[in-house]
Amino acid sequence: MKLAADLHIHSCLSPCADDNMTPGNIVAMAALKGLDVIAIADHNSAGNLRSAAAAAADAGMLLLPAIEANTREETHVLCYFETLSQAEQLGEWLYERLPPVPNSSTLFGNQFYIDIDDGIVASEPRLLISAADCSLEELVAFTRRLGGVAVPAHVDKPANSILTNLGFIPPDLQLKTVEIRGEQPPAGCEGYAFLRSSDAHTLGDILERVFFIDAQQRGLSAIIREISQ
Ligand SMILES: [Zn+2]
Ligand SMILES: [Zn+2]
Repeated sequence: MKLAADLHIHSCLSPCADDNMTPGNIVAMAALKGLDVIAIADHNSAGNLRSAAAAAADAGMLLLPAIEANTREETHVLCYFETLSQAEQLGEWLYERLPPVPNSSTLFGNQFYIDIDDGIVASEPRLLISAADCSLEELVAFTRRLGGVAVPAHVDKPANSILTNLGFIPPDLQLKTVEIRGEQPPAGCEGYAFLRSSDAHTLGDILERVFFIDAQQRGLSAIIREISQ
């Protein structure tokens, strides 16, 4: 079954995303664009995923719980899970490893927590885009221990990509899938499957029906299985 997907979207909890990137607005835009499954992947946090899952359920859309982690190597890695609590456990683990640098909303933007009525309930005081004090290897291992799958983010971008920062994808990590923003994976990704997603920070950036996951069923476990293989 082919599911139209965009598995890398930032909510307004990410300082770099627009303030109107609430879970409700993201789900509404994704529905307009005809997507079947989305992932909201904020920097180092699962804080808006419960509201996002509620909004997606109301719209009959699948929400794959995700976080875009930033490791000590300044490498961005998408971590996908079947359940909210798995993603939240990674969120707590990352938060403990984030440097105690306060966010400056004037410099970086707001970090809003959104409730299930799509209203702002709080602001995160700590800057979420910092690198967590964990290695890429530790992040991948912990994500797997929780039952999730790690996917190096935007490997075709010059910043915060595993290829730019390490020069290669360490084979020891035994990763299967990488993420790209363009249409074709760059050199260095031979043999890897790929996800194509928007890394949207604005509503308009969310993908149209241009990338499909071929899952055995319409469900999160089937999608996780597909990305892991
Ligand atoms: Zn990134
Ligand atoms: Zn991102």
